[in-house]
Amino acid sequence: MKNWSGNVSFDANLVVRPTNVDDIKSALIAADSVRALGSAHSFNRIADSKDLLISFELFPKDIQIDKVGKQVRVAAGVRYGELAIALQAAGLALLNMGSLPHITVVGATSTGTHGSGLRNQNLSAAIASIELITAGGEDVTITGDELPSARVGLGALGVIHHLSLQAIDTFDVAQRIFLDLPFENLLHHFEEIMQAGYSVSAFTTWGDAMVDQIWVKSRMDIDTVPGHELFGATAATHKFHPLAGAATKSATEQLGSVGPWHERLPHFKLDFTPSFGEELQTEYFVDIKDAVAALQAVHALRAQVRPLLLVAELRTIAADDNWLSEAYGRDSLAIHFTWKPDFAAVTAFLPALEAAIAPFKARPHWGKLFTAENFDFHELYPKFGEWLAYRAGLDPDRKFINEQLSLWGM
Ligand SMILES: Cc1cc2nc3c(=O)[nH]c(=O)nc-3n(C[C@H](O)[C@H](O)[C@H](O)COP(=O)(O)OP(=O)(O)OC[C@H]3O[C@@H](n4cnc5c(N)ncnc54)[C@H](O)[C@@H]3O)c2cc1C
Repeated sequence: MKNWSGNVSFDANLVVRPTNVDDIKSALIAADSVRALGSAHSFNRIADSKDLLISFELFPKDIQIDKVGKQVRVAAGVRYGELAIALQAAGLALLNMGSLPHITVVGATSTGTHGSGLRNQNLSAAIASIELITAGGEDVTITGDELPSARVGLGALGVIHHLSLQAIDTFDVAQRIFLDLPFENLLHHFEEIMQAGYSVSAFTTWGDAMVDQIWVKSRMDIDTVPGHELFGATAATHKFHPLAGAATKSATEQLGSVGPWHERLPHFKLDFTPSFGEELQTEYFVDIKDAVAALQAVHALRAQVRPLLLVAELRTIAADDNWLSEAYGRDSLAIHFTWKPDFAAVTAFLPALEAAIAPFKARPHWGKLFTAENFDFHELYPKFGEWLAYRAGLDPDRKFINEQLSLWGM
């Protein structure tokens, strides 16, 4: 069994596929070491287990919508794309989505997965309650003041069987793409460009002078859709994929056509292979105040980056108060790299990249590749020590700590 990218082979000696909550409890009680699996889209070994892996493939895809309270209770195993279709049918929407709808709600929120938008927090911020089975087999619901400690839980607090999310009224989005933004203009107008729509992504191959594509997703109820020019970039007149030359049929609708939120906020459609398919990913989060300096630091490394790169993406995330959220306490720029699938060459280069952005206290994405030794999580996350204590309270025998989490000092 492998992850989506194929770079991780899961070590588990037993995979259990529960069909109800009692199955989870009995599997948990019998095992010494356990991890739960979402859609296996993470690029490191975060979801791996040497002993038991719990897969939600056969778990009922329960989606219960409270239209009046605008909340939805969703089962582990449900993918964002599936949830979005149900919410849209009920006249509701999520505040935001990541670049692809194929990932599970529980797996994505567990690693702090995000979309883009200076007004938008990461996806876990929408969690209103978490229902999980603890290491001891107890069914616990986490709500209220306890949520900041648990929303980004890295699968280390227990096995989540349901989450409840806050929703909002449905809205329409238009997506337009702008080409060849001069890099200097990005630096001089960074926040204005990233606020040109509800959700803005800049795709770049770190050329000397140009940012290749700016994807602007405008909410029809609150934004003004940009015209034919954006700070020197010009509006595309045909459809684009973030990767030059890749087939555009997997990409969501563009060219300013108006449609529902869930068909425009992700970059890729649910029924196609997203992104490139054979790739590795790395992503680092810096304070938005350091955005320009951090971009310059990466740009200075472009001669080393480019041979390994498929494409890079720049997104913004609003600050939140979730202890292990990569945007904890700071509005953030996320600098993302989609690499060619050369694991040895990419991991050999990462220390140089990480050294260049270390002065900005960059936090790595929990679900992507990074060099563990280069990050001191006590320094990067003010609540890291409290989170370790909170976690130990739920799991004193470290049943949910795998090798990857140990390597990260957990
Ligand atoms: C093509 C591609 C595009 C991506 N785009 C984005 C993006 O736009 N933004 C972004 O931030 N990230 C992105 N990612 C990264 C991805 O969102 C994260 O790795 C995410 O965690 C994957 O979700 P998953 O359902 O596959 O979870 P998995 O990778 O299966 O698991 C992730 C974590 O969740 C835990 N978990 C899963 N289910 C449960 C459960 N029931 N109970 C407790 N813990 C559980 C696992 O143990 C693990 O720790 C992308 C990845 C790929 C492959």
